[in-house]
Amino acid sequence: MANAPVQRMSQLMAKTLRDDPADAEVLSHKLLVRAGYVRRTAAGIWTWLPLGKKVLANVERIVREEMDAIGAQEVLLPALLPREPYEATGRWDEYGAELFRLKDRKGGDYLLGPTHEEIFTLMVKDQASSYKDLPVILYQIQTKFRDEARPRAGILRGREFLMKDSYSFDLEDEGLARSYALHRQAYQRIFERLGLDHRICAATAGAMGGSRSEEFLAPAEAGEDTFADCPNCDFAANTEAISYELKPVDATGVPAAEDIPTPDTPTIETLADSLGVPASATLKNLLVKVDGEIVAVGVPGDREVDMGKLEAHFAPAVVEMVTEADFIARPDLVRGYVGPQGLDKVRYLADPRVAPGTAWITGANKADTHAKNVVAGRDFEVDAYVDVVVVQEGDPCPKCGTGLRLDRAIEIGHIFQLGRKYTDALKLDVLGQNGKPVRVTMGSYGVGVSRAVAALAEQTADDKGLCWPAEVAPADVHVVAAGKALQTELALDVSEKLSAAGVRVLVDDRAGVSPGVKFTDSELIGVPRILVAGRRAGEGVVELKDRRTGEREEVTVDEAITRLTGR
Ligand code: ATP
Ligand code: MG
Repeated sequence: MANAPVQRMSQLMAKTLRDDPADAEVLSHKLLVRAGYVRRTAAGIWTWLPLGKKVLANVERIVREEMDAIGAQEVLLPALLPREPYEATGRWDEYGAELFRLKDRKGGDYLLGPTHEEIFTLMVKDQASSYKDLPVILYQIQTKFRDEARPRAGILRGREFLMKDSYSFDLEDEGLARSYALHRQAYQRIFERLGLDHRICAATAGAMGGSRSEEFLAPAEAGEDTFADCPNCDFAANTEAISYELKPVDATGVPAAEDIPTPDTPTIETLADSLGVPASATLKNLLVKVDGEIVAVGVPGDREVDMGKLEAHFAPAVVEMVTEADFIARPDLVRGYVGPQGLDKVRYLADPRVAPGTAWITGANKADTHAKNVVAGRDFEVDAYVDVVVVQEGDPCPKCGTGLRLDRAIEIGHIFQLGRKYTDALKLDVLGQNGKPVRVTMGSYGVGVSRAVAALAEQTADDKGLCWPAEVAPADVHVVAAGKALQTELALDVSEKLSAAGVRVLVDDRAGVSPGVKFTDSELIGVPRILVAGRRAGEGVVELKDRRTGEREEVTVDEAITRLTGR
C-alpha cells in the first residue's frame, strides 16, 4: 500500500473553532465540530470533512476486516428502495414517521432504506436455490435514513448515518445460533480494536420482531440508553429489556375487600400518608387509549410507567393518554379513583408485582373512596402481565436478586436472531437435502459506524479536546512548526521522512498562526502523538509529546523518527 501523503494544515479543508456550536448539547458534537471533523448541513444531516472522513474510514476498515474474518461477504445495496417488499412485511406502515417515503415522477412509492432485511431476503431468494448455497452471511457498509424525532445529539443520532448491516441465512435454528455467535465474536473484536469500552446487554427485539437479541452498549454520559448491571452476577441488560418472573402468593386469610372513605387524597402520596401505608401498598391504574380502545395498566403506587416501554409493548398500535372527553363518555371511569375490581369492558394489564394473591389499596370506582384488601386473581383479573415500569437503581437483579446498578450508554451495535419473520413474509425457501423446500431462518446485525466515531469521541475526550486511540486517529503524529521559516522547514522535512517510513502525518505548517494557537489546536484535534519543532530546531532538537498523558521529552530529530517509526 502506498504511504499516505503528508497532510498539511495550511491546505486542510477545515478550520478549528474557539467556541462550541450554539445548538450542541453533547460533548462529541461540540468537539467534532470545533476540531473541524464534521459540519452540520441540516438537522441530523452531516458533512464529513477530511479529518472526520479519515476517522470514519478507519472505523469502516476495522469493521470490514472483522466481518471478512468471519466469512461474511460484502455487497452494496441501494438506499433508494421500492415500496412493495416493505409492504409485504408490513413495515411500510409499521415503521411510522421514522421512514422517509418519497414518490418518483410517475407517482410510484419509494423509501430511503432505514435497514435492509427485505432487500437482502429478496437478494438471497434470487441467488440461492438449494441447501448447498447456505449458510451465508452478507453485509454492507452503507448510508441509512431515519427521520428521527430528536436528532439533537450530533453524529450520535443522525437522520442520515452510516451503518454496517449484515444478515445471516441458515437452514436450521442451530445454524442461526452459530451465525449469531460469529457476529457476537466479531463485534467484540471490532469494539476492542476501536478502543471502545462496551458491555453486551440483553435487549428487546423492538420493531424487528424475532427472538434473541443483544445490544453492545458503550457507557457514556451522553448515551440515550440506560443499562442495568448486576454487581454480583453476570446479568447486564438494557433497562428496556428487563422483565420479572410472576411470583403468585397465597391470599388465604386476606379479609374481604372493603371500601374506605378517603376524601382529599388526590395523589398517591396524600393517600398513602392519610392511611399510614407506604406508596408501594397502593395500586395505581393508568388509563391509556390503544388505537382508540381504553386500556388500564396497574402498577404499584411507588412506580412510574415507562411510556416508551408501553408504546413498544403495543406497537404498531398507537398509545395516547385519555382525555377529559373520554371520562365524560365513560362515567364508570371515575378520575382519580379507578380500581380494577368491577372495571367493565376495559382491558387490564399489570406489572408482575401485581401477582395473583397480592392485596392492594386501590380506587373504589366511586368519588372520594378507595378500597382495601383488593386481591389480584380474587377480586379482579389481570388480562396480561407486562414489564412497563421504570427500572430504578437498586431494583433486584432478575437472575440473583442483588440490587442493580444503572448507567447511561450509547448503543453501538445490535445483534438479533430474527427467525422467519421476513422469510415467511417474502417466502424465502431453498431446496433441502431431501428435495423438499425449507424455509430459511435469518439473523440481522448492525453496527453504527458513524455513531461509533462519536461514541469514541465521548469516551476518550478530555478537557483539552479529542484524544483518539491509535488505530482510528486521523494521523499517527501531529507535527507542529512552532516558530518561523527554520521551524517550518524542519517540520516539513521530518514530516516527509516519517511519511516515507509509513507514518501518517498531519503537519501544522500554517504561516501567521502563533505557536500557542497551534498547540491548542493540536490538543483539540487529538492525534495521539505530537512532535514540536520549536526553540531548539536550529540544533536539530524537537519535542515529542503524548497527547493523552501530556508527557513530553526533548529528543534529537533522528531519535524522534526512530521512536515514531518504531525502528
Ligand atoms: P436507537 O435505539 O439508538 O434508535 P436502534 O435500535 O434504532 O437504535 P438498530 O435499528 O438496531 O438501532 O440499528 C443498528 C445500529 O445502528 C444501532 O446499534 C446504532 O449503533 C446505529 N444507529 C441507529 N440509529 C442511528 C442513528 N439515528 N444515527 C446513528 N446511528 C444509528
Ligand atoms: Mg432507533
